[in-house]
Amino acid sequence: MSTAIDTDIEVHDPATGELVGRVRPAGPDEVDAAVARARAARDGWARTAPGDRAGLVRDAAGAVRAVAEELARLNETETGRPYDDGLGGVLAAAGTLEQYAELGPVHRGRSLQGSWGATDLMVPEPRGVAAVITPWNDPVAVAGGLIGAALVTGNTVVHKPSERCPHLGRRFAELVASFLPEGVLEIVDGAGPTGAALSGHPDVDLVAHVGSVAAGRAIAQAAAGTGAHVLLENGGNDPLVIDDDVDPRWAAEQAALGSYANGGQVCVSVERIYVAAGIAEPFLDALAEEAARWVYRPGPGEKALGPLVDRRHREHVHGHVAAAIADGARVHAGGFLPEGEGAFYPATVLSGLTPAMTILREETFGPVAPVRVVEDFAQGLAEAIDDPHGLAATVMTGRMAHAQQAWRELPVGTVKINAVFGGAPGGAAEPRGRSGSGFGYGPELLDEMTTTKVVHWAPLP
Ligand code: NAD
Repeated sequence: MSTAIDTDIEVHDPATGELVGRVRPAGPDEVDAAVARARAARDGWARTAPGDRAGLVRDAAGAVRAVAEELARLNETETGRPYDDGLGGVLAAAGTLEQYAELGPVHRGRSLQGSWGATDLMVPEPRGVAAVITPWNDPVAVAGGLIGAALVTGNTVVHKPSERCPHLGRRFAELVASFLPEGVLEIVDGAGPTGAALSGHPDVDLVAHVGSVAAGRAIAQAAAGTGAHVLLENGGNDPLVIDDDVDPRWAAEQAALGSYANGGQVCVSVERIYVAAGIAEPFLDALAEEAARWVYRPGPGEKALGPLVDRRHREHVHGHVAAAIADGARVHAGGFLPEGEGAFYPATVLSGLTPAMTILREETFGPVAPVRVVEDFAQGLAEAIDDPHGLAATVMTGRMAHAQQAWRELPVGTVKINAVFGGAPGGAAEPRGRSGSGFGYGPELLDEMTTTKVVHWAPLP
């Protein structure tokens, strides 16, 4: 294999533009070596008692809690995520590690009803070496969930955190690895090429990717050549459909939360809004007022809007907005590139959109609320359904028939009715279409991380 590597990756603080640090991406040889170490550790870890594996993961969770504030600060420095949000993500990671430490040892198979003299079993087994490739937008929580589930089920892991927060990714994963035997959790730095070398490696048995649709497609193709099991939690283009019987001010608050939380950089952010004509005007007015409340360094009654992750991403977001404006969209708030340092972008509200516009067809992943005024709920639902992504959707309505029709017909993994975020603990869904496949979280993730063997044991004649 070649030893060629990319040039160093530079990370800049997206609030100030200052250099945070550089990392050298792992080339194919380094990926190969990390996979070899994980493979060498595989049998020993698989044969470690599940309770013992879980104990180590629980200890690691405690260590993550102990440095949660440091990790949240690093998260803010590398990605611009407001400190309190980042702290929530780190604590969620610790909680998920603890939860999988509880669930791992009770993740069990079945005994079957065979003949009296025979024993028949279905037994979950670890898949082997898991490649865990993660994004920057909720970096610690996402990595914690996948790594925790892989470890407690007896897999060894090679983890590649996002190149946009490599110091945070390495700090978290090295902390967890410090509680584990050598080779059980390996870390490689790098961007797409390093991820490609890892996901196409012949000794990787499972690739778990959370990230963009394009990278997910490339990973699926690479894994098709090796036979690795693939788990893809990819981008979405989540609609919000608003009926004419709801309070437009409350709907605007929800729409703002869904569009602007974490700067719109949440996989299940609201990406497109369909509002029934009957309440469109007061809704748009209220949404423009809401947008003004989302600011950097918020005061009383305001909400935190950090910078976007970097200027490259800001170009992507503004590209969608500028194209819509050029095609006749009306700007109710934001919609411009701010002057000054960093990668800031204002909370934006647009209307006057047509279904073919890129801003409605593709994931924008920024603080943008693109509003399409539709005749009624039925038209909004029909347009919401007409999209190749399949992550999540929200509808707001007081009419049971509309809510029922919506959750039945929307071709997505998660449907929320009358709340843009939320859900009961343990809920898990499989994304559809372009958005991926497999359970990326919840107790069902333990099934993805294991493969089932059936045993038929007959007595000697
Ligand atoms: P990304 O796909 O660019 O990067 C994610 C990871 O994949 C990174 O570690 C990256 O280096 C790696 N990667 C990129 N190209 C690759 C390739 N060809 N082969 C192997 N690995 C490759 O995504 P991002 O910009 O970091 O994250 C934002 C995206 O993630 C958005 O689309 C968002 O919706 C999505 N996301 C989805 C979920 C979910 O649960 N569905 C959760 C969080 C984020």
